[in-house]
Amino acid sequence: MAKPCTIVWLRRDLRLEDNPALCAAGRIGNVVPVFIWSPEEERQFHPGRVSRWWLKQSLIQLDVSLRSFGVPLVMRKSTDTLGTLQELIKATGATQVFYNHLYDPISLVRDHHVKQGLTQSGIQVQSFNGDLLYEPWEVLNDDGKPFTSFESYWQKCLNMPFEPDSPLLPPRRLTSIAGSIPTYTPEELGLEDETEKSSNALLARAWAPGWSNADRALEAFLAGPLLEYSRNRHKIDGPTTSLLSPHMHFGEVSVRKVYHSVRRLQLLWAKDGSKLGEESIYFFMRSIGFREYSRYLSFNFPFTHERSLLSNLKSFPWRVDEGFFKAWRQGRTGYPLVDAGMRELWATGWLHNRVRVIVSSFCVKFLQLPWRWGMKYFWDTLLDADLESDVLGWQYISGSLPDGHELDRMDNPQTEGYKHDPVGEYVRRWLPELVRLPTEWIHHPWDAPPAVLRAAGVELGSNYPRPIVEVAAARERLRQAVAQMWEQEAALKAAGVATDAEALDENLEVKVVTPPLVSTHSLKTAVAGTLSRSSLRDQRVPTCGKQLSMENGVPHEGDNSPDIAMSPQQDNLLATTAPPEAHSTAEKCDNKSMNCDQTPEPKHNVPPPAVSDGNSTAESSSSPKQVNDELRNGVPLVWVPSIVNQQPVVEPSCVPYAGDAGQLRKHLLALQNSRTENKMEEKSPLSEWRRRTKRKAKA
Ligand SMILES: Cc1cc2nc3c(=O)[nH]c(=O)nc-3n(C[C@H](O)[C@H](O)[C@H](O)COP(=O)(O)OP(=O)(O)OC[C@H]3O[C@@H](n4cnc5c(N)ncnc54)[C@H](O)[C@@H]3O)c2cc1C
Repeated sequence: MAKPCTIVWLRRDLRLEDNPALCAAGRIGNVVPVFIWSPEEERQFHPGRVSRWWLKQSLIQLDVSLRSFGVPLVMRKSTDTLGTLQELIKATGATQVFYNHLYDPISLVRDHHVKQGLTQSGIQVQSFNGDLLYEPWEVLNDDGKPFTSFESYWQKCLNMPFEPDSPLLPPRRLTSIAGSIPTYTPEELGLEDETEKSSNALLARAWAPGWSNADRALEAFLAGPLLEYSRNRHKIDGPTTSLLSPHMHFGEVSVRKVYHSVRRLQLLWAKDGSKLGEESIYFFMRSIGFREYSRYLSFNFPFTHERSLLSNLKSFPWRVDEGFFKAWRQGRTGYPLVDAGMRELWATGWLHNRVRVIVSSFCVKFLQLPWRWGMKYFWDTLLDADLESDVLGWQYISGSLPDGHELDRMDNPQTEGYKHDPVGEYVRRWLPELVRLPTEWIHHPWDAPPAVLRAAGVELGSNYPRPIVEVAAARERLRQAVAQMWEQEAALKAAGVATDAEALDENLEVKVVTPPLVSTHSLKTAVAGTLSRSSLRDQRVPTCGKQLSMENGVPHEGDNSPDIAMSPQQDNLLATTAPPEAHSTAEKCDNKSMNCDQTPEPKHNVPPPAVSDGNSTAESSSSPKQVNDELRNGVPLVWVPSIVNQQPVVEPSCVPYAGDAGQLRKHLLALQNSRTENKMEEKSPLSEWRRRTKRKAKA
């Protein structure tokens, strides 16, 4: 009897090792691994230049590895993934399609649409967890609702009754169908055009994409910087962190492999009594935890790529200022550390986490630019651009998360500069115009005596800008903006009470329901052994449970708002949860909680680009130009993904999603329009904090 043929639809799981979909397919019969490049389906989140470069290299390596098994990677370019899969099914006689889960809102919609289309035409579809330690629907609070603070989420993960699955070995063998299937080459996919190639060539000097290189990077990190991670992770100028993020984004190494490799060292170092090692592992695991949490938030709150988790931010008076945005992008704000970071990003596609925090914080707090602008710019320019992590980072910085930075918090770039770049080495590397400025003035050239500036060849306002905003003025403007936000919020609320639509919205809440929503022809025979667990863990989509009761004919908000465990002080979460040993020696991160990370070194020896007056900043596919066009056209602030390019629909009975893609879109829209956060806000810790902030703002 002919062996069954399975298409393995690869996306951001470009590896042979610990690839559950590939392994399961390999056990059953013939395998056709497929990668479909479909940028149109990703809309405004179609990857930027450096990310596409990485993808291309990764595909080349994966194809070579698969060919060594005699199973080449079939690559296609398409505007319709479902159609392309159906065509390949016809060409290969495949009866099954396997893939690993993704959690960003765009993939959730697309994957569901694909799954539904295939199952309707009699194809068995099976999906697997290849990207997370625990699925988002496995980690819930005691009420069965998703957590909304990292700390409570991560504690739950650490106390789960079962360890994350061990990583799978690469398949022993893979067998192919007879005959060849037409495929594109990586070049033909058009991942980089001719003009991009010369810039991209520089990237290869510093980075080695591909799954076997990812393994090497992991090994090198475990054997080197990991031991001192707790001490060094905030150093912005050295290879002190793992530099694994682009590898992990494309799934070249699985998070389970990282986790279990680190756990092994943890046991070893605990046996040796290495306090430093234990602390380092504690902090590194937290970093992995943030990555997990980014997917968790994205899955449970699928609007967070365009709307703050805390709803009050919708009333924040962001400044729609193209000039400021351009100065920030070009590294011409007059604040050396911010400018150095932005030029590094422009030139290399990379930034240490600490510098990401500093430049993003400057963008939203000093310049008051909408956080989504910054997020989109990072998306377009980062080598490790990852929608979920990008969203988490920007929401955290902009005061949009219950446990993120306080809304009124401002970190002075001058102070941050001396803290993280005490002798100005980093600034001098990226700002050649300041190279001769003495350390005493390197982070605040505007205070330097004219003779010092002259001697250093610095002409403020000419070859290096004066600060585009003054710290005191920015602080005052932020104070006013926060006050205005609360006023606006109060006015909206008052108006909202009167409208049914508002009240209805208020009653929608995000809730995860237990049964698999998108289902499911489980492959009982096929994947025996792994199946019992796999089917339980089949891909779900977020669900909206509406707890609506009626009072005098008016929809009335029930008392079942989602958990929101925000510390009223938003205090250093490390301080509240780190083990005592960790407290004793680890540096406390003054930027608090989740972004207490560290730095990859600027590995790249790429000279900083000349900063022109033009619009050029990072070369990117879908970039600020679009932003500016939108602004000019009077459509500010939001890059609306495909799923929201429709009128919002609030379903009167927000049923668990089980239908077609249209329904899922509606469902996501309903989630987006729900006032989850308004409900959250009524919970005591949050409201207490808000009251405090309001009082502060008024004062
Ligand atoms: C505004 C902002 C935007 C960001 N955008 C992205 C992004 O687009 N892509 C991205 O991968 N990371 C993003 N981050 C998170 C973080 O900066 C990078 O993951 C980290 O700097 C990568 O370096 P590393 O691999 O050496 O990290 P390590 O410190 O070695 O950490 C190990 C891994 O943990 C994960 N991780 C660490 N910190 C975070 C975090 N705060 N959030 C999510 N995952 C984390 C990454 O996968 C990382 O590779 C952003 C942070 C901020 C503040």
